[in-house]
Amino acid sequence: MLEPLEERLDQPLPAEDQDKEYVGFATLPNQVHRKSVKKGFDFTLMVAGESGLGKSTLVNSLFLTDLYKDRKLLNAEERITQTVEITKHTVDIEEKGVKLKLTIVDTPGFGDAVNNTECWKSVADYIDQQFEQYFRDESGLNRKNIQDNRVHCCLYFISPFGHGLRPLDVEFMKALHEKVNIVPVLAKADTLTPLEVKKKKIKIREEIEQYGIKIYQFPDCDSDEDEEFKQQDQELKDSIPFAVIGSNTVVEAKGKRVRGRLYPWGIVEVENPAHCDFVKLRNMLVRTHMQDLKDVTRETHYENYRAHCIQSMTRMVVKERNRNKLTRESGTDFPIPTAPGVSDSETEKLIREKDEEVRQPPHTQTQEQECVTQECVDQECVMHDECVQESVQEECVMQEESVQEAEHCAELC
Ligand code: GDP
Repeated sequence: MLEPLEERLDQPLPAEDQDKEYVGFATLPNQVHRKSVKKGFDFTLMVAGESGLGKSTLVNSLFLTDLYKDRKLLNAEERITQTVEITKHTVDIEEKGVKLKLTIVDTPGFGDAVNNTECWKSVADYIDQQFEQYFRDESGLNRKNIQDNRVHCCLYFISPFGHGLRPLDVEFMKALHEKVNIVPVLAKADTLTPLEVKKKKIKIREEIEQYGIKIYQFPDCDSDEDEEFKQQDQELKDSIPFAVIGSNTVVEAKGKRVRGRLYPWGIVEVENPAHCDFVKLRNMLVRTHMQDLKDVTRETHYENYRAHCIQSMTRMVVKERNRNKLTRESGTDFPIPTAPGVSDSETEKLIREKDEEVRQPPHTQTQEQECVTQECVDQECVMHDECVQESVQEECVMQEESVQEAEHCAELC
């Protein structure tokens, strides 16, 4: 007679049976790992904040590269009327065979002019343009080699000289918090005493809360993580805004050559956790949360943009349909802004139905299967329902719109 299943599972299998029981899907992580390493990784980091707060120095210190070789600094006169410019630097870095294409997006001129009203606008536009480009590429025919230029994280530099946040900081973060993962940093922390850093951090955190600014939220730890990991995670959360110090020079401190700033009274070491949060920030950005920042960008910020876009497209299609219907019925051949005979509530109903349609993944098996084969192998785009939504949206674009309409729609978005 056979023993109960649980008992059989507890006992080690003889070697010859082990081979029989081994299907091989345990190697799946290795396959994904190999594929990702071969493909390489990319990450886009934006730095924003008033000029002179040490953005370029910090970026160079973070990635040990000189990304700002050909930077042109403007004089005071030029800066009076300076508009915010967006510059992009890309470097390919490699570490132990893993390639990373790092793009740094800088915002020179931000907060520099005499009148800084709405100077966050060009930054917001840039982020939207990258979403738009991705949206177009995704809806196009060649989706295999899409270049992803979406901004995954924005380091926002807060001046150490103010009393907490300035109105411009609040305005910037509020305008962008739904488009990008904002990580606030307290710049030039070596100009403050440890007590001042502590007080400023508390004040800034309170203000962030008070103004309803949604900065990047570190994901919660799994309950089965060990205590040490949980503690590190809590420390990371408590460090916001990261107090940072940047330096591109190597100095000698206690017989060791370190990256630091040499003052008549001593040396501040960039990578010394007792001096600042540089290492915490670097670990968070590179070692522990880079993938999460990318996931949140894709699943939250880009999804918001995409939903908004599809909604506008649907509205336009419904409007166009109503107009065509009316033109046919009335025999007029000129556009009429609102369709008489179709009440607002009816139009709203149509829009709602279309929205529902877009939101709900259809359950046809062919679509699901296509999705699994084409997309799920690709680590970057595994979301099944995203894929289904794409096909619905593509279908919608193909059926309902001419090329002209699509162009018009992109403008609308
Ligand atoms: P950016 O305009 O924001 O890119 O600022 P820069 O990186 O060009 O730095 C402006 C000036 O501040 C330079 O003279 C830097 O050497 C200095 N600086 C950069 N980081 C720090 C820092 O952490 N502490 C101090 N005290 N000075 C810094």
